[in-house]
Amino acid sequence: MNIILIGPPGTGKGTMAKMIEEEFGYKHISAGDLLRDEVKKKSSLGKQAGPIMKAGKLVDDRLVAQIISSNVPKYAKTGFVLDGFPRNMKQARILEGIFKKTKTGIDAVLLIETNDRKIVERLSSRRQCPKCHTIYGLNIPPKNDGKCDNDNAALVLRDDDKAEVITKRLELYRQSAGELVEFYSKKMLVKKIDGNMGPEKVFLQIKKAILGGGN
Ligand code: AMP
Repeated sequence: MNIILIGPPGTGKGTMAKMIEEEFGYKHISAGDLLRDEVKKKSSLGKQAGPIMKAGKLVDDRLVAQIISSNVPKYAKTGFVLDGFPRNMKQARILEGIFKKTKTGIDAVLLIETNDRKIVERLSSRRQCPKCHTIYGLNIPPKNDGKCDNDNAALVLRDDDKAEVITKRLELYRQSAGELVEFYSKKMLVKKIDGNMGPEKVFLQIKKAILGGGN
């Protein structure tokens, strides 16, 4: 099954995608993680994307399309959860083009909704492992303070999770989310997930939606 997760930053898309991957075996493809890997590798793409990401702005569609087109086709037949892509209509069309080539498509679109106050609280307190990208936060703290459970790497606060950048990211999301949801609603039922609860409760709704019992 190929799933797209739409939702504001801090709504738990990454955490949910990981849980879906564990439960159903669909590959988690995170546009943000792939971009952060490029920044870490100091590739030419990473050098262009780094400063934009730090400022909480959106990376050029052309650059994101490059990493998405080299990842989505690998998993299009066995199933994936796409997290952070598409973020606007241009990207949605790029994805359609990829599907044409792979002769596959999207099976489910899940819209995770969370209120802004909760998002700011979550993002400013979350920490990420720079190695395996696992995210920790108020609801999911690491076993040892400041260290990743998987590889013991020191957890970091992402530059774009700093309070002053969060509002900008939320604004950008609101600007393009509406038309994306409208676009996918014409193709299928976009299933709404209440993201204001703890991860286990949000995942229960997601499981229902994937297994066909959603709203
Ligand atoms: P995320 O991990 O999804 O919150 O993404 C972190 C940052 O990566 C975003 O604030 C953007 O700068 C960049 N990014 C991730 N996905 C995209 C995308 N689909 N289009 C443009 N920029 C993106």
